[in-house]
Amino acid sequence: MLEEKKPSKTALEDLGEFALIEQLTKSATTAQSSSLHGIGDDAAVLKHEGEMVVSTDMLVEGVHFDLGYMPLKHLGYKAVVVNLSDIYAMGAQATQVLVSIAVSNRFTLEAMEDLYAGIHLACKTYGVDLVGGDTTSSKQGIQISVTAMGIAPKTGAIMRSGANEKDLLVVSGDLGAAYMGLQVLARENEVFKANPNHKPDLDPYTYLVERQLKPEARKDIVTLLEALEVTPTSMIDISDGLSSEVLHLCKQSEVGCRLYEEKIPLDPQFIAVCEEFNVDSTTLALSGGEDYELLFTIKQEDFEKIKANPNLTVIGYMTDKSDGANLVTRGEEVIPLKAQGWKAF
Ligand code: ADP
Ligand code: MG
Repeated sequence: MLEEKKPSKTALEDLGEFALIEQLTKSATTAQSSSLHGIGDDAAVLKHEGEMVVSTDMLVEGVHFDLGYMPLKHLGYKAVVVNLSDIYAMGAQATQVLVSIAVSNRFTLEAMEDLYAGIHLACKTYGVDLVGGDTTSSKQGIQISVTAMGIAPKTGAIMRSGANEKDLLVVSGDLGAAYMGLQVLARENEVFKANPNHKPDLDPYTYLVERQLKPEARKDIVTLLEALEVTPTSMIDISDGLSSEVLHLCKQSEVGCRLYEEKIPLDPQFIAVCEEFNVDSTTLALSGGEDYELLFTIKQEDFEKIKANPNLTVIGYMTDKSDGANLVTRGEEVIPLKAQGWKAF
């Protein structure tokens, strides 16, 4: 996917750090009133009122992404989106991001411009300002670190620790598709390596591939819950897989839970491709990861306010801690949930 360095491309060593930063950030504008000064000085100047939430994530080539099937523009977009997802998971509105990159001389200016096209697009889409970062060289590959900031609602940030017994467990969107998208891309990449003339037909997989290559953060759900006047008692975003995130909520809230297999929202394309790959859809929805949906708990009395919304599905409820965290299968078997999420080490 990454193009070979051709004479028409600009080598980073010929450009120098300052010209590179200038080139990549010249289109960054500030739209948020809290951004007093963005890129250009030793530090950005922000003016926030109320609780501020901050989160950072690091993406390393070969560990978190493979440029064989992740175009740089998508990588830039995704790097920002996954950080914004953490801000929305606090019930907050994202306002600013900082982006730091370490890049080897295997990359050209044009490649970096593709990466930043994705970064700028994500900022524009979500209405956040790119207000700074750092640029350095690396011995090998590319590493990207994004820090995102946001403002919590007046009632305070929503923590993982606020769930109570009998609260309903709710998830946005559908699960597992991003993981299956990665399986599809990896398979196509292997075929391509063996036969470079192979033209992949990704039509039957468009939704899955899009969920992997162009994930979106659920800013809309935060806005929707505010409009419905529903304040989640606890919330987390699904980056590592449903079961691992449910366990986080249970542990930090000191409650148990019952999660119903038949309630887990799955897209029809995901179900079809699980059959094609001969894998169990529930297992993948529980452990797949990278869905970037929101998982939260609400008081039972708020059920009426959310029940008609197709973007939200009640998948279970919280119980006493002593009951543990369990999955109720379609056969009504009760089995303990295990964290099978993707592990960084
Ligand atoms: P310093 O030497 O003080 O670290 P830099 O030359 O690294 O300053 O950065 C100059 C300006 O450009 C700062 O506002 C910094 O935040 C911004 N900046 C540097 N690298 C990036 C990047 N990769 N993305 C966005 N902004 C950047
Ligand atoms: Mg610097």
